[in-house]
Amino acid sequence: MAKKYVYPVRNKKVSTGKGISNGVYFFGGQKADGNESMKNLLGGKGANLAQMAGHKDLRLPVPPGFTLTTEVCIYYYKNRKTYPKGLKEEAGKALERVEELMDRKFGDPQNPLLVSVRSGARRSMPGMMETVLNIGLTEKTIPGLIKQSGGNSRFVYDAYRRLIMMYSDVVMEKAAGIEPKDDVSGIRKQLEKLMNQMKKAKGYSSDTDLTAKDLKELCALFKAKIKEVLKKDFPDEPNEQLWGGIGAVFASWNGKRAISYRRIEGIPDEWGTAVTVQTMVFGNMGGGCATGVAFTRNPGNGENEFYGEYLINAQGEDVVAGIRTPAPINEYSKSEHNKDLVTLEKAMPKIYQELFGFQARLEKHYRDMQDIEFTIEKGRLFMLQCRVGKRNGPAAVRMAIDMLKEKLIKKEEAVMRLGPGQLDELLHPIIDPKIELAHKPLTKGLPAGPGGATGQIVFSAGDAVEWVKQGNKVILVREETNPEDVEGMRAASAILTARGGMTSHAALVARGWGKCCIVGCSGLHVDAIKKELLVDGKVLKEGDWITLNGTKGNVYEGKLPMMDASEENEILTNFLKICASLKRLGVRTNADTPEDARRGRQFGAEGIGLFRTEHMFYGKGSDEALFLLRKMIVSKTEDERKKALDELFPYVKKDFKGTLEAMDGLPVVIRLLDPPLHEFVPRDPDKLAQLAQDLDITLDELSSRAENLHESNPMMGHRGVRLGVTYPEVSAMQIRAVFEAAAELIQEGKSPYPEIMIPVVCEVKELNDQLVITKKVYQEVLSKYNIKKIKHMFGTMIEIPRASIVADKLAQVAEFFSFGTNDMTQMGFGFSRDDIGSFLPEYIKKGILPEDPFGTIDQEGIGELIKIGIQRGRKTAKDLEVGICGEHGGDPRSVEFCHRVDMDYVSCSPFRVPIAILAAAQAVLKEKKK
Ligand code: PEP
Ligand code: MG
Repeated sequence: MAKKYVYPVRNKKVSTGKGISNGVYFFGGQKADGNESMKNLLGGKGANLAQMAGHKDLRLPVPPGFTLTTEVCIYYYKNRKTYPKGLKEEAGKALERVEELMDRKFGDPQNPLLVSVRSGARRSMPGMMETVLNIGLTEKTIPGLIKQSGGNSRFVYDAYRRLIMMYSDVVMEKAAGIEPKDDVSGIRKQLEKLMNQMKKAKGYSSDTDLTAKDLKELCALFKAKIKEVLKKDFPDEPNEQLWGGIGAVFASWNGKRAISYRRIEGIPDEWGTAVTVQTMVFGNMGGGCATGVAFTRNPGNGENEFYGEYLINAQGEDVVAGIRTPAPINEYSKSEHNKDLVTLEKAMPKIYQELFGFQARLEKHYRDMQDIEFTIEKGRLFMLQCRVGKRNGPAAVRMAIDMLKEKLIKKEEAVMRLGPGQLDELLHPIIDPKIELAHKPLTKGLPAGPGGATGQIVFSAGDAVEWVKQGNKVILVREETNPEDVEGMRAASAILTARGGMTSHAALVARGWGKCCIVGCSGLHVDAIKKELLVDGKVLKEGDWITLNGTKGNVYEGKLPMMDASEENEILTNFLKICASLKRLGVRTNADTPEDARRGRQFGAEGIGLFRTEHMFYGKGSDEALFLLRKMIVSKTEDERKKALDELFPYVKKDFKGTLEAMDGLPVVIRLLDPPLHEFVPRDPDKLAQLAQDLDITLDELSSRAENLHESNPMMGHRGVRLGVTYPEVSAMQIRAVFEAAAELIQEGKSPYPEIMIPVVCEVKELNDQLVITKKVYQEVLSKYNIKKIKHMFGTMIEIPRASIVADKLAQVAEFFSFGTNDMTQMGFGFSRDDIGSFLPEYIKKGILPEDPFGTIDQEGIGELIKIGIQRGRKTAKDLEVGICGEHGGDPRSVEFCHRVDMDYVSCSPFRVPIAILAAAQAVLKEKKK
């Protein structure tokens, strides 16, 4: 062990140049000049090391070193790449302190100290700047390092060749501004070529086959090549290496990669980077050496157990590279593939105990699970790094709840610990993340329905139903879907379409069911007739397996294994209760069936924000109702229509009643029919014939009526309230169904609370027109059932830009507003919801739009329309209830926006209710923080 050295307290105000009070911050030996709060000055890495080394609760054995501040970097650039006066002396003093602690000397031939030089900006810029390792290794110090390593000259020459490669590339070429003329003429490439030539000549397959003698020879060849290409000698002098390295890392702040990363991430150029010079410690020096990675809790399931892996006589990169199988650090970390290897606890019990103590201290201090890197050099443990550890969804919820119980964190912190995506992982099966990482997607589309699914390809809804009946798992692949596909969509494990956006039919339906779905996958060419698809130059046929990640929009070839995280639901329920206790925004669900309503309620929904009446005509058991709806749609005369409506009435009433009952006591927004009529016109010849027969008309007559329904632009055509204005009997039938369903429930002792909502409104007179019908029907139902009152509201969707502008007038009639942000986005941007697949990806790629406005609210434009709508509406009616029922209601950032603009509730598909609850709670906490 190195001797203990106690330093005198240092005067921190050492002048190192104009405008800089202190350019060098030391850390090590249980002391540090800086701390975690000094990220701006020391960079993330420098501040973290200072904290680990010097904070009174930690005092961990980090390899000692010092950090040159970001102010030095700024000075360096402002002063023609020079350093502040006195900086080098300061750094020299800090280096002496490091030498004392390590009991080694920089450049000493007998017992040399080696250092690394690394960048570290305020915000992490992974891989964007340079690093040089093994600085201080020269022809003169090589024998000393061989001695330190117990005669391991292979290790030493390998370290030397790494230094030469890195240094010539980073310092002598890149930092010197030398641009190689092509990909192969850069110095690193040329040195790699020499190394490969040697391996080939000797018949070696891997770098590790190179012997000490080979490596020594290679170092000489490298130096000669450097001289030939760069016309300079490799500097074999420790201080020259050190300052060359420091200068190169500062220079890498203005390297091409770093600059473009800063542009993308919005990191200001003036921040500069800090540079940390730190002792090199080696886990591969022979006996008593090891290196490893550990987590203070299991990141896979969240259990409060120390978990990790290590490798004897190896460097950090060997653990990650996967060439050798790392061993478990303790019994708990054993798995099938490493259970026969010796644990660190057994191999080095004392060190393990020390490490165990450090991890406990780290977690207590940071109050979160930490990911730790450590190295053991000749029986001495060094803590290299710690950071908040990544974890999957189930682990995240478990840790948050456990840490709350352990009183390590408060409930507000527990709520902030989870990302919305992590919650999603708990609600759906997902592709095993480790396996997914090893696969490259065939193509990508829009992530319309979350979770993962694997299945055999089928190209029609009918085939989907058939194959599933035979016991297969299928993925329905279509150009796009329509209501006729719904049965197949239900049967399939997932849906994949080549066209359509986040609010296309497939996306809406799949999301409602919580089914995995990818839409707008323009890389797919679907040939439903030939039953094959072309993707990425490959032809996939019916029956071939594919796997989808609907959360990311990735399509994979083959059958990837799934993981089901849903058994953690009890913990999830607890977690959601905590979120619900903090949030202000109400969270409702969009549901069109009693089953969905129940599911949403189970997840914590406080009502229904959107019941799309037309959806009752999709899916299982809806054949008859759909037939009658079609009959109504193609009716020509009022009589024909009334007859169809009378027949349809009991179905509609039954559906309303089921849902009102499932949500007993809670509000249910029932939206009157808003069918894009063309979607419901049958295409199947058998169905057409049956319809013609029932209406007692010829097939030709039916075709001509269907033809008449065809609109050039159905999204802006005869839909929503326009249908109710032109056919008042259609509205009357639905309103009657709502009130009669509610009246029956009241008589059964229940407390229904319908809110009747009129869609696609742009003018108050439209609303008045429908209100007259509503009032009349209401009175009729009251007297029919002989009851005094049915608690209800009458309101409107705000989904046309004009509606927001005239919201003050609409609020004179409407008792509530619900923003239909799907249509609002469509009409606000003038982007057809179903056709964005052909241009939106390019818009996003080119940065014209930051993201899909159908996925997250465009706050700058559509958000303003919403604000105007709320403000004007509430000016007329202070207590106006305001919600959102567009798909954005389940998007976390949009939920935060809805909270800020003071909506009463958001509404989203049942599977997104937990995410909305979390986002609503987080919105409150973020607001408090500000
Ligand atoms: C909307 O437009 O946001 C909405 C909820 O209605 P739909 O998606 O049914 O048009
Ligand atoms: Mg709409």
